[in-house]
Amino acid sequence: SSTETSLKNDISSADIRGYKGHDMLAPFTAGWQTTDVDPLVIQKSEGSYVYDINGKKYLDALAGLWCTALGGNEPRLVAAATKQLNQLPFYHSFWNRTTKPSLDLATELLDLFTANKMAKAFFTNSGSEANDTQVKLVWYYNNALGRPDKKKFIARIKSYHGSTLISASLSGLPALHQKFDLPAPFVLHTDCPHYWRYHLPGETEEEFSTRLANNLENLILKEAAFIAEPVMGAGGVIPPPATYFDKIQAIVKKYDILFIADEVICGFGRLGTTFGCEKYNIKPDLVSVAKALSSGYMPIGAVLVSPEVSDVINSQSNKLGTFSHGFTYSGHPVSCVVALETLKIYKERNIIEQVNRISPKFQEGLKAFSDSPIVGETRGTGLLHGTEFTDNKSPNDPFPPEWGIGAYFGAQCEKYGMLVRVAGDNIMMSPPYILSLKEIDELIVKYGKALKDTEKRVEELKSQ
Ligand code: PMP
Repeated sequence: SSTETSLKNDISSADIRGYKGHDMLAPFTAGWQTTDVDPLVIQKSEGSYVYDINGKKYLDALAGLWCTALGGNEPRLVAAATKQLNQLPFYHSFWNRTTKPSLDLATELLDLFTANKMAKAFFTNSGSEANDTQVKLVWYYNNALGRPDKKKFIARIKSYHGSTLISASLSGLPALHQKFDLPAPFVLHTDCPHYWRYHLPGETEEEFSTRLANNLENLILKEAAFIAEPVMGAGGVIPPPATYFDKIQAIVKKYDILFIADEVICGFGRLGTTFGCEKYNIKPDLVSVAKALSSGYMPIGAVLVSPEVSDVINSQSNKLGTFSHGFTYSGHPVSCVVALETLKIYKERNIIEQVNRISPKFQEGLKAFSDSPIVGETRGTGLLHGTEFTDNKSPNDPFPPEWGIGAYFGAQCEKYGMLVRVAGDNIMMSPPYILSLKEIDELIVKYGKALKDTEKRVEELKSQ
């Protein structure tokens, strides 16, 4: 397509980096990219920076994939992993056998999550597996309670919950469904709470939230569960409009359905609170975490389960017998010790205070670009930020997709030595928590340069 041609031209003008036509089936990558364009091969990380195989340095404004909160070379995490690898590189947690790191991490997570009382933690390797586990838990729970009708899930348009069969079904992004025969029939999607894009003329933020809650109510009809990210991440960094979660939770409660909070991006300080649930006063029944749990150093995720749900699942009288769900690497001891050390470091370094100290400069610096004629909206909170490029400052005037405006901006950032997330004409950033004020200046300068170039590009394209 012409979008792909335009992207190709942008990217192939970059340095020759080798490995064109490599042997990896690359995740979230177009086939033509791996055959025609050299991949960006990252070799080393240090603080808020990563380096490619040519030694070029990049400010890692996405913290890997929203995860390396402590940056690229935290020696304590390396030491924790090494010590565990020497002592017990692996043992599992099936059949009531387990390891101390997984027991300790479960306790630590339950202590840390204070928005609602949680009783148990189940370990996964990823956020996708955590959300798949949520679906199975809800089914198992409702089967135990003899409620065979409560089998559906309601997620939101533009949500991202993962890319396994079930978590991709929950996600509300067409790219994750098209060509994969998804979503599965047990998933329904309700409105995306993006006020700027979806409010009706004259509708206030609160009226918008009321309308969305009413739409959810009409959709519910005793469905099984509702899943939401406190701030939507990969859908474009969309913080909830005023009163949204109050109204949504009232509906969820009224119909006695379970609320699953997907804290995979928001958890562990990203929004300036330990969890997004605290920030928006969400009282979930089930919680998914991953990413910053280990600062991305080892793969690990977890599901936190409320006492109500875990009591039903653990009850002898539920007649369901063994909870036959688990992964070889559920509670992997090396991942668990790295997560324990990560959480310890967050505490010792007052990571919440740190995020709140630096995030105003980050948010205000980026907000200043909202005057640009090509910026439709800039939005964000804590250390999460999204920019959406549109014409005429309007959500209804997207740039032609074949112009590849978002991709061009991303390529310019890369040229100036900064990595951001691009999805269509949405730009997303979630830098490491260790970012210094000087590095925030650098991030804003690079963003500004890429924006100027992109404005010029739009002018050129318009005049053609
Ligand atoms: N939930 C959310 C909110 C996410 O952002 C992601 C990953 N970006 C996932 C779930 C899936 O996590 P993973 O990639 O670890 O499977």
